Amino acid sequence: MAYDDNNVFAKILRGEIPCKKVYEDEHALAFHDINPQAPVHVLVIPKGKYVSMVDFAAGASPAEQAGFLRAVGKTAAALGLDAGGYRILANHGANAHQEVPHFHVHIFGGKRLGPMLSGGSLPR
Ligand code: AMP
Repeated sequence: MAYDDNNVFAKILRGEIPCKKVYEDEHALAFHDINPQAPVHVLVIPKGKYVSMVDFAAGASPAEQAGFLRAVGKTAAALGLDAGGYRILANHGANAHQEVPHFHVHIFGGKRLGPMLSGGSLPR
C-alpha cells in the first residue's frame, strides 16, 4: 500500500491538527489517543512515512528503527508506567482493524488490562 500523505497522523506530524504530546525526538512523536481504551492510552509514531509495521521493518533505516523503539520505552517511562506494567500493540491491516495508515504502536496502562484479546482463548 502506498503511503497517504493525507492520513491523520501525517497531519499531526505537519502540525496541521493538534495533539496532546507526551514525548518527541528526531525519530518519533508520542501523543494521547483521542479515544482512549484504557486510563493511559498513548500512540507512538515514527516521523518517517511508513504505512505499517511491515513497511517500517522493511524500509526504515537501522537508526530509525532503534530510535523508534527507544522512543516507545522513553514514552512509557515518561508516563510512569514502568513499575505497574503496560501493554504495547500494533495493528497491521484489515484483520487487525488498522484505521490509520501510518505505522504506530499503542501503549495501554493504568489498570489491570485483562486478557490479551477480546473474546479470550480459541477452543483447544
Ligand atoms: P489503529 O486502529 O491501530 O489504526 O488505531 C488508530 C488510533 O488512532 C485509534 O485508537 C484512534 O482513536 C486514534 N486516533 C485517530 N485520530 C486521532 C487523533 N487526531 N489524535 C489522536 N488519536 C487519534
